[in-house]
Amino acid sequence: MSVFNSVIGQDHAVAELKSASADSGMTHAWLITGPPGSGRSTLAMAFAQSLVCPTGGCGQCSDCRNVISGTHSDVEHIIPEGINYAIDDAVALIERSALSPTRSPWHVFVIEDVDRFRVDAASTLLKSLEEPPVATVWILCAPTVEDVFDTIRSRCRHISLVTPELKDVVNQLSSKYGVEPQIANWAARVAQGHIGRARALATSQEVRDRRKAVVDVPFRLHSVAMCFELASRIVEMANADADALALPLDQSDESDIRMAYGDGSQGKGLAATNRQMKSALKDLEKRAKTRHRRLLNDQYDRILLDLTAVYRDVLVIQTGSAVELINAELFDSITELATRTSPSVTLSQIDSITQARDQLLANVSAQLVFESLLVALFQPLLSKVGETG
Ligand SMILES: [Zn+2]
Repeated sequence: MSVFNSVIGQDHAVAELKSASADSGMTHAWLITGPPGSGRSTLAMAFAQSLVCPTGGCGQCSDCRNVISGTHSDVEHIIPEGINYAIDDAVALIERSALSPTRSPWHVFVIEDVDRFRVDAASTLLKSLEEPPVATVWILCAPTVEDVFDTIRSRCRHISLVTPELKDVVNQLSSKYGVEPQIANWAARVAQGHIGRARALATSQEVRDRRKAVVDVPFRLHSVAMCFELASRIVEMANADADALALPLDQSDESDIRMAYGDGSQGKGLAATNRQMKSALKDLEKRAKTRHRRLLNDQYDRILLDLTAVYRDVLVIQTGSAVELINAELFDSITELATRTSPSVTLSQIDSITQARDQLLANVSAQLVFESLLVALFQPLLSKVGETG
């Protein structure tokens, strides 16, 4: 068993990281890039596990498990709390990176969304990347290499992930989760290379129902009132999905902490231990909040991706392209919608979806973003009705 088994369709990247951790000339700064769902974080965390595990990443020992639950003293998994990393965040990171590891050969920092470093924060981090403390390893993650400041990426060894191939995702779904071939194929296709999404779709009827509700939206835009109603519904569903994903993670984190501090035990020094446990639980609450916001943003992203896929299919029909539809099961509705607009209208609708994504990233209220998006998607249909009627 190896922690790298959970990384799908990235043989090249895994081989490079494996040989690096076996190397004596270890690289201190890594940059892992890859599209959403390609397993960027999974790979970064597996690499961190392999660096602190006595057997190179078994996935079973307490070191490996503590990395994943966020309780390993030598591994920090950093996720931006706001939209950007501020200079204070970078300064705190640098200070902690100077500390020696307590129980492993390496002190590892996995930093998500390194593209969200502001320029002053980035130049602070740069100092440590240029002259890293001997036992410190930085593992930076970003969607693409272009998103990262030149000065940072030029100090890092770059590992680039690809969108996993359909067959790799299908294989994983059937071998690891025993999903039937037909559902595995469908889930892999509509998830468009996003492994976590494919898994959720393949294994949960509820998730499939919610996706159906989203991809039906373009066919249900009959009035502005309907746009508002569907926008509310979308925001509710995204929240429900994020809650469902967060709950088991929150619960297992809490029980890990309670166990680590021997909750319920008796004896000397109990008051001090209790205080430490309370403070650890408070930290956890903060982390859980950040994680929830992140999960919610992922849900919005996913909804926009599903909507984009529908309009992409409409465009395929309108232009007579000989490529497969992502939503083949919606062929009739897609064909009907294709006759009501033109390719240029469809392109502008896809553009509206991209703009909605930017607005969400800029922290505009999700309700407002989806309301104006659905109205923008509905508008061309309205003028068509006006022209013909
Ligand atoms: Zn291990």
